[in-house]
Amino acid sequence: MGVLDGRVIIEVRCNELTMRDRNPHVPWSPDEIAADAAKCREAGASIVHFHARDARTGAMSGDVGVYADTIRAMRAVSDVLISPTLGASTIADPHERVAHIPLLGAEAATRPDFAPVDLGSFNIDPYDPATKTFRNETLSYVTNIAGLRHEIDAIHDSGVLVQSVLWNVGSARLLGAFLDMGVLRGPVYAHVLLANTFLAAHPPTVSGLRALVDFMPDHPDLHWTYSAVGANALSLVHAAVESGGHVSIGVGDYHYNELGAPTNADLVAEVVRMVRSVGREPATPAEVRQAFGLGA
Ligand code: ZN
Repeated sequence: MGVLDGRVIIEVRCNELTMRDRNPHVPWSPDEIAADAAKCREAGASIVHFHARDARTGAMSGDVGVYADTIRAMRAVSDVLISPTLGASTIADPHERVAHIPLLGAEAATRPDFAPVDLGSFNIDPYDPATKTFRNETLSYVTNIAGLRHEIDAIHDSGVLVQSVLWNVGSARLLGAFLDMGVLRGPVYAHVLLANTFLAAHPPTVSGLRALVDFMPDHPDLHWTYSAVGANALSLVHAAVESGGHVSIGVGDYHYNELGAPTNADLVAEVVRMVRSVGREPATPAEVRQAFGLGA
């Protein structure tokens, strides 16, 4: 358990590519994301993951200036650790996908703390059980080993820590291989991505989580978290925390309409309540920095 001493890292997935039709509290602009992050930090979060978005339309932004503005705005109001996205399937070329990280890393003021790498290649056509159809049947998210190595090297060389995103047992095995090879170094932050409609991921259930965690590589300095895309992640808080895991949650992943469309900070407050109900405390950003050997 190491330096975190049982404390639970709460990461916020504040916006993803989610629009506001079902939950109006999805932050888009740099100032909105920063204000949201500050409230989440007050509520008990220590890491915020964001996607740069067009301030007016909410469209995905690939503009490194928007990433930089967002990180500066977040740093001005909070000490929360920052994890911007790579472009995932929306940017096919891994070199292009990671290109903003070295640019952001060149200056301390805009250097992220983490950047995620999805370990593997996946079909990501969402399946709709109600209509028994896939949305378009051609959507895949392909990154070969060389592409993954490039992303990981570019992130390391930028002074940023890799968040290893695991979709399935194959991802966990790839994480083990990259650790064996020395491609990935230092403390490991693994992210178990559970999902309802992406069938390449494990389902957002206790057994879906456990089946992947069982295959996590044996590493003395590995911390893992989970998220639930398209599902209520609160239902897995106790199972994850009891197994030594951490929690990632946000209105970017799911609307939480059954809870009255809460804000990200409302969700963090609920996770904190659940964590405390089993005698644990949320980790502070300073504790997370120490655990991952990140500078203050
Ligand atoms: Zn994301």
